[in-house]
Amino acid sequence: MSAPSENLSASALAHFAKAFQQAPLWMASAPGRVNLIGEHIDYNDGFVLPAAIDRYFIALAAPNGSREIRIRSSHFEEEAVLCLDTPPTPDKATTLWMRYPLGVLAGFLERGAKIPGLDVWVESTIPLGSGLSSSAAFEVAFSSALEQAAGLSLSQVEKALLCQRAEHEFAGVPCGIMDQFASIMGRKDHLLLIDCQSQEMTPIAMNDDSVSLLVANTNVKHSLASSEYAKRKADCDEAKAQLGVTSWRELREEDLASVSGLLDDVLYKRARHVVTEIQRTQNAVEAIADKCWEELGELMFASHDSLAKDYEVSCPELDTVVVIARELGVSGGVYGARMTGGGFGGSTISLVNTSQAQAVLSYYGDHYQEHTGIQLDAFITRPAHGAHALRIASDS
Ligand code: ADP
Ligand code: MG
Repeated sequence: MSAPSENLSASALAHFAKAFQQAPLWMASAPGRVNLIGEHIDYNDGFVLPAAIDRYFIALAAPNGSREIRIRSSHFEEEAVLCLDTPPTPDKATTLWMRYPLGVLAGFLERGAKIPGLDVWVESTIPLGSGLSSSAAFEVAFSSALEQAAGLSLSQVEKALLCQRAEHEFAGVPCGIMDQFASIMGRKDHLLLIDCQSQEMTPIAMNDDSVSLLVANTNVKHSLASSEYAKRKADCDEAKAQLGVTSWRELREEDLASVSGLLDDVLYKRARHVVTEIQRTQNAVEAIADKCWEELGELMFASHDSLAKDYEVSCPELDTVVVIARELGVSGGVYGARMTGGGFGGSTISLVNTSQAQAVLSYYGDHYQEHTGIQLDAFITRPAHGAHALRIASDS
């Protein structure tokens, strides 16, 4: 699938008409994303390897003749009212979800864009807050709708940076560039290798129908995530300073033993995760090119172990899914699995044999529920196409 489902579009159109008593003029969609491998190294000179997924965020818009943008979401009761004549600041948002569009609007106004008053409806099949980047998809879809309404066109990179800035300055999340890049530039049947040091991006074909990605949302989110993120970042900066390197790329796996005495145990573990994960991500690209799915699966399991033991950002629920995946193994249809995203909850990603994917899905669900008492929300996906803008009617 390379575009939002008919169901999602039809549902959003009906909701728009009901909410605003008019038909929308513009429609934009943006996908969520999942990172196959390369975790917690986006801010450590590393690589990430995300794919856009076929779960979408849709924004519909029409002029409302006022000087306000009024946004309704299928997920929340309140209407967001963004005033076009006062400069947007984060405190103008009464609840968190309104900060995302407000931040995007700020980027447009700063560029002097002429934006008319708008009625906007947003709706999405990307679960909120589960590590699949509903927030970036929101920013990107809203930004695409504003481009249409303002009659201007941003370059893909410009749009990604504008959206990232909204997330930093308005939502207060110091994210890397992966989420917005993947949502905008995702390509059907491709992963995107992003070199976070140079920001260079290379599409990596993954078009073998015999393997699929299985995303499983643990439905837990431990509150440690943001405070621990800041601590890990500080640990890594400290380790780098103590080792006297300016980039983690200066070290390779085989150098680790010789520098172990220079760091305390905790900093050494952080360094080992970073250096080995950078290597695993490069090895994963080769495994994909060679269609060596067992090798790619092993790299994913190794990534999870490193994140759990050395980087200490996993949690019992994520570990449970990975234990279940190992139980099934290759004969049961699972090549590999790992936590994906920041950790302390959120989602896992597994590489599965397509012909056994449905059986894996049921096994995961049953066993996760048995072990944790929590429902697992899992689905099978393939790398999807990035953001679309659709004009749905003539405005003449
Ligand atoms: P993730 O990006 O992994 O889903 P975040 O915590 O970064 O998790 O972003 C989730 C937030 O994005 C939600 O709490 C909400 O504020 C906003 N959001 C996501 N989807 C929607 C939606 N459909 N309607 C309104 N706000 C949304
Ligand atoms: Mg997010």
